[in-house]
Amino acid sequence: MSINLEKYKQISQIAEKSNAILVAVSKTKPVEDIRALYDLGHRDFGENYVQELVDKQQQLPNDIRWHFIGHLQSNKVKYIAPFVHLIHGVDSMKLVKEINKQGEKYGRMLDILLQVHIAIEESKFGFDEDELDLAVRQLIKEPLKNVHIKGLMGMTSFSTDQELVKKEFRSLKLLYDKYANVKSDQISFNTLSMGMSGDFPLALAEGSNMIRVGSLIFGERSYGALNNK
Ligand SMILES: *Cc1c(COP(=O)(O)O)cnc(C)c1O
Repeated sequence: MSINLEKYKQISQIAEKSNAILVAVSKTKPVEDIRALYDLGHRDFGENYVQELVDKQQQLPNDIRWHFIGHLQSNKVKYIAPFVHLIHGVDSMKLVKEINKQGEKYGRMLDILLQVHIAIEESKFGFDEDELDLAVRQLIKEPLKNVHIKGLMGMTSFSTDQELVKKEFRSLKLLYDKYANVKSDQISFNTLSMGMSGDFPLALAEGSNMIRVGSLIFGERSYGALNNK
């Protein structure tokens, strides 16, 4: 087990001081590692492969709050809809509609975060500012009864340029604040998910209240066995 319990305690204290939730990102890591944090009282875990999440959920206690943080394909929503706590990376209206459909099927209100494209890199997923505006307007006009939009999620550029990363976090916080006063049954923001192992202190300083930290806690990931997931 390569899990770093000291680091975990340290990060979880930092998060707590900022009134932020620490999502421990356990993707590619064995259930024993998750169990070790669970036994310390940790409940929020993040995964980004549907099959892996479903497998782990079946083997672990029911009171874990599972966060789906990866890129979700519409045809896979049905596998996580019965139990998922929060879906972070929702990046299209098509996906919002499918989540609503599955929520209806399972009699659940599914909590989601809309992913915003804040990085300069082309490859990152997410709504841009205009698309986000359209999506929110549409959801106000035609509410989907089984989804609840709790806030925004974003990923910064993969860069050591602190100023750039800060600027990207700031742009997401501005958008978050812009919608913070929209209150309906379907939309009420209370979650801004930003910050990972490399940049969570900066994210917290810029107003994040949910950080997603993996490798600092669980050790580096090896993707060898997961290439086709
Ligand atoms: C893997 C992943 C993380 C955690 O990354 P670390 O750098 O290991 O902390 C956070 N967010 C998302 C969306 C991820 O896919």
